[in-house]
Amino acid sequence: MCLYEANPRLGGRANRIESNGFRFDTGPSLLNYPWVFERVFEAAGARMADYVDLLPVEPGVAFQWPDGTRFALSSDLAALIRSVESIEPGAAPGLMRFLSDAGAKYDMAFAKLVNRNVDNPVRWFFSLSPREFRRLSVWRSLYGEIGRFFKSPRIREALGSYGMYLGGSPFELPGFFSILPYGELAYGLWLPRGGVYGLVEGLERLARELGVDIYTNTPIERIETAGGAVRGVRRANGELDEFSVVVSNVDVPTTDSSLLGHEPRIAKRRGSIQRTRMTPGVLTFYWGVRGAVKGIGHHMIFLPEDYRSAFHDLFRGSAVPRGLPFYVSVASATDATLAPEGHSTVFVLVPLPLLSQMGDVDWDQQVAEVRARVLERLDRHGCGLTADRIEVEHVLTPCDWRDQFGLFDGSAFGAAHTLFQVGPFRARNYARELPGMYYTGASTTPGTGMPMVILSGQLTAQRVLAHEG
Ligand SMILES: Cc1cc2nc3c(=O)[nH]c(=O)nc-3n(C[C@H](O)[C@H](O)[C@H](O)COP(=O)(O)OP(=O)(O)OC[C@H]3O[C@@H](n4cnc5c(N)ncnc54)[C@H](O)[C@@H]3O)c2cc1C
Repeated sequence: MCLYEANPRLGGRANRIESNGFRFDTGPSLLNYPWVFERVFEAAGARMADYVDLLPVEPGVAFQWPDGTRFALSSDLAALIRSVESIEPGAAPGLMRFLSDAGAKYDMAFAKLVNRNVDNPVRWFFSLSPREFRRLSVWRSLYGEIGRFFKSPRIREALGSYGMYLGGSPFELPGFFSILPYGELAYGLWLPRGGVYGLVEGLERLARELGVDIYTNTPIERIETAGGAVRGVRRANGELDEFSVVVSNVDVPTTDSSLLGHEPRIAKRRGSIQRTRMTPGVLTFYWGVRGAVKGIGHHMIFLPEDYRSAFHDLFRGSAVPRGLPFYVSVASATDATLAPEGHSTVFVLVPLPLLSQMGDVDWDQQVAEVRARVLERLDRHGCGLTADRIEVEHVLTPCDWRDQFGLFDGSAFGAAHTLFQVGPFRARNYARELPGMYYTGASTTPGTGMPMVILSGQLTAQRVLAHEG
């Protein structure tokens, strides 16, 4: 088995930047559902603990509003109750009902919906009993679903903000996505020692031990076909490597429009590729900061006062959202080895509309403006992080994300998870029109996020085994 990677390192979006003794994870910073990764190692006859050391991140994510309100999530139930009660006195029973309801949804989703290759929507839905189907809350928005358990707009906003990663506002995404905040509360948040990239290194080691031939710095220019089937991959240097099965981990719309753009059977789908709704883009900053960064913890999401407009701007607008919601991670707060002694690594993620929505952008100017607004907001909350403390700085714009990793339209998380882009409605993990062609990763089933793309690999492997024997 051969694996071709265009970049110098494996990991894709989950990459690493090293600079002056600081080590930054480029993309994912919140690792949840550790059981998914443990099972991959188990499937290979190995023990994850021998490859990756997971450090607990506690408390998990905290949310900060401009008026000073702060709300922290925790997988320690007593701490979570205290936190919820501080925002909405008397909400503890609602919290318990939320955990029980979202927990039942979560178990049902993984047992019957997420972890299966099913092409037929009717079969997919009929795997549920009528009671289970009702529990899914497909007719209710995520925001409305959370509102069944909490009156406080702050708690609804915090738990609903997970919709951003799914590519929809909490006012339009279906209610069953309450499984996202639940999964984080129930299974906790983790940081592999050495950063999220420590997980990539563990997986790479396992793959090499299993005999996978890995070629880095080897971009694939196109997937060759012959006689109506896959023939192999053409490297950018012109060499052809012949295979009867090719699995593309490149974003599905990029694979179809670029690597397979020459294939008439796939080109027929161009309309549906263009109609695929994608998750937003991101502008990301990597700051090596002198000294400790106080008052942020490990993960903090800064939400605006006008939450609804921010989501509207993100999904329907053509410019940086007015309220500028953003996320900050100080991974060195959990693993001090990520920065030189006494110093800090700071990662800032600012969601932006897709490149096609934003049109022509002067990125130098845009980056400077967003940076100033982020620093101003951090200052307002007394985080003590001023520009003069930033010793090292790297920035990735949505164009960089697109160009470096092949992310369609600069979308950070791949295809969105609207009701008609999940399960059997999502881009399939094989091309019916082109025998031997398979897909895996964030834009196919089951979806985006590190645990989901690992499950995606397993689902694609099952497809290959079923089809190719
Ligand atoms: C900024 C950011 C923050 C995120 N935060 C989180 C988080 O906190 N938690 C979480 O779980 N998820 C998070 N995600 C989502 C998560 O990173 C993705 O869902 C997941 O990493 C996608 O994996 P993938 O294998 O589908 O795609 P990729 O990681 O994009 O892998 C595709 C690979 O194909 C390579 N490639 C592309 N074109 C070619 C070519 N022509 N030839 C050869 N190789 C090629 C790319 O270099 C890349 O290595 C985040 C994503 C981003 C961008």
